[in-house]
Amino acid sequence: MNELSSIAAAMPGVLHGSGGAPGIVSGPAFVHAPRAFATAATGDVAAALGLLSRTQHDVAARLQQRAATLREQAQAREAAIFDAHGALVHDAALTGRVERYLIGGVSLPLAIDAAVAEMTALLESLGDEHLRERAADVRAIGEMLRGALNGGARWVDAVPPGAIVIAHDLTPADTFDLRAVGAAGFATAYGGPNGHTAILARSLGLAAVVGVGAALLTLADDTPLLLDGAARTLWVTPSAATLEEAGRRQKLLRARQDAPRDAAPGKMRDGHEVALRANIGRPEEAEAARAAGAMGVGLFRSEFLFFDRPAPPGEEEQRAAYSAALRACAPHPVVIRTLDVGGDKPLPYLPTPAEPNPVLGTRGLRLCMRHPALFRTQLRALLRAALDGELWVMLPMVSSIEDVAWGRGELQAAAAALAEEGVPHRADVRLGITIETPAAAAIADLLAREAHFFSIGSNDLAQYALAADRSDGLLAASYPAASPAVLRLIAQAAAAARAAGIPVALCGELACDPAVAPALVGLGVGELSMSAGLIEPIRARLAELTLEEAEAIGRSLAQLSDR
Ligand code: PEP
Ligand code: MG
Repeated sequence: MNELSSIAAAMPGVLHGSGGAPGIVSGPAFVHAPRAFATAATGDVAAALGLLSRTQHDVAARLQQRAATLREQAQAREAAIFDAHGALVHDAALTGRVERYLIGGVSLPLAIDAAVAEMTALLESLGDEHLRERAADVRAIGEMLRGALNGGARWVDAVPPGAIVIAHDLTPADTFDLRAVGAAGFATAYGGPNGHTAILARSLGLAAVVGVGAALLTLADDTPLLLDGAARTLWVTPSAATLEEAGRRQKLLRARQDAPRDAAPGKMRDGHEVALRANIGRPEEAEAARAAGAMGVGLFRSEFLFFDRPAPPGEEEQRAAYSAALRACAPHPVVIRTLDVGGDKPLPYLPTPAEPNPVLGTRGLRLCMRHPALFRTQLRALLRAALDGELWVMLPMVSSIEDVAWGRGELQAAAAALAEEGVPHRADVRLGITIETPAAAAIADLLAREAHFFSIGSNDLAQYALAADRSDGLLAASYPAASPAVLRLIAQAAAAARAAGIPVALCGELACDPAVAPALVGLGVGELSMSAGLIEPIRARLAELTLEEAEAIGRSLAQLSDR
C-alpha cells in the first residue's frame, strides 16, 4: 500500500476503483449525467417533431460554430466538413424518414436510427464512391442527433479546464476529447481496468479511476476532489494535509517522469534481458516512449487516428502519422496494429451491422474484411511509411489460419499495386498477429508458421477465455486476467512461438502489473509492451529477480506443477 492509499483507508469520503491511469490531480467535480430518454414511443408525434426540430437546430448551430473557429485558424478544408454536415442536419429526406417512423409509432431516438439506416443502405447500394461518402456523413449526423438528445451535442465542451469529470462511463472518443478540453482527469462508476477507456487514459496521460461503483454518481458539481490514478483512489473534499501530501508526491512523480532515459532492455538479476516497449495511440506519443527508455513501440493502436472525426484519414495522412512514429523510434521496431474497431470501439462513419453481441461480432480484422478499400488504404500507407524505420505490421482479432492468409494476401496486393504505380515503399515488412482469442492460442503452433511474430493481447484473451466482459469492473474483480486459465493460454502461445523461433510479446495490461510481469517472462514471453509511464516500475521489478525465480512465479500463478 503506498502512502496515499494508506491515508485513504483511514479517512471518510474516500472512494476506490477497480483500475486507473496514473497521475495525481485535484480540482472541482464536473458531473456528466446523460439525460435518460425513453425509447418507447409516447404517441405524441407533434411533441417528438418539435424536439427533433430543436435538436436539429442545436446541432447545426454547434457545427457552424466549429466551422467558424476553424476558419479563424485558417483551416478552411476542415471548416468545409462542418459546413457540409451543418447543411445535412436539416436534410429533407432524412427529416421525412424520421417523421414517417414517428407516425408509425416509433420513439424519436429509434426513429433517427431507423431513418439513418434506411438512407445509408440506399446510398451505399448505388455503388458510387461519392454517395458512399455521403452515407458516412448521414451516419455522423445521426450520431450527433442521438448525442444531442442524450444530453448535449458534445457535452465535453462544457467541461471547465482543470475539472475532474465524474461519469457513468466514457466512450473512447469522449476520453480523447476530455484531454483536448483540458480536464484534469476523470472517474467513472463503471468500466474495468482493461477497458478501452482506462487504456486510452493511460496512453493520453490523463489521470483516471474507473469502476468506482454507483456511489460515485451521488457527487455534486464543484465538489472538491483529489484523484490518484495509480492508487485507484478518489478523495472527496480532501483535507489541506491530504492535498499537501499529494502535492509533494506529484512533484516527485513529475521529476521521475521527466528525466530522459536511453532505450534499453529490462535486465533481470542474472542478466536475462526482456525487451520493454511502449503502447501508443498517436504518433506524438512515440517521442515520450523514447524518452521513457522504451525499445520502440510494441503496440500502436492505429484506430485512434480514426476516432472523433467525420470520415476516415486518407492514405497520405496515415502515412505521415506512421512515418512520424517510425522515425521517432528508429532503429527500434514500431508494431503498428491494423484498424481494430467494432466491439466496444464503434466508428460513427463505418456501417456496422446491428449485432446482438458486438464484441463477438464483426470487429478488428473481420470488420476490415467487410471494408477492403479502407483496409487497403491503411496497408498502402503502412508500406510507404516503412521506408522511415523498422515497421512490424500486426493483425488484430485473428482466430484462424484463413484470417492470417487473408491479411497477408491484402498486404501483398497493396505492395503489388504500389510497385505497379511506381510509388516508393517497402514490401518486406514483418507481418505478425495478436493472440487474443482462445482459438488463436489453441492453434498457436499452426499460426506460428504463418506469422513473423506474436503479440499476446491479454485484455481480450482474458475476456474471451473467461467469458467476462473486460469493461465490467465487478466481473474483473471475480475473474481477473491473471487467472490460471489465461496464464496457461499465454504459456501455450509463448511455447509455440519459441518452438517456431519467432518473437513473442505481450501488449495487454498484464504487462504493466508488477505482480504479474515476472510470471509472464517466466512463462516464456520475451517482450513486454505497456504505457510508457509504467516501463520504469516494471524494469525495477524485473531487476529484482532471476529468470529461474520468474519461472517459479509463473508456474505458481498458472498453478502448474513444479517440474
Ligand atoms: C488486448 O486485447 O490485450 C490488446 C492489447 O488490445 P486492445 O486492448 O486494444 O483490445
Ligand atoms: Mg485486443
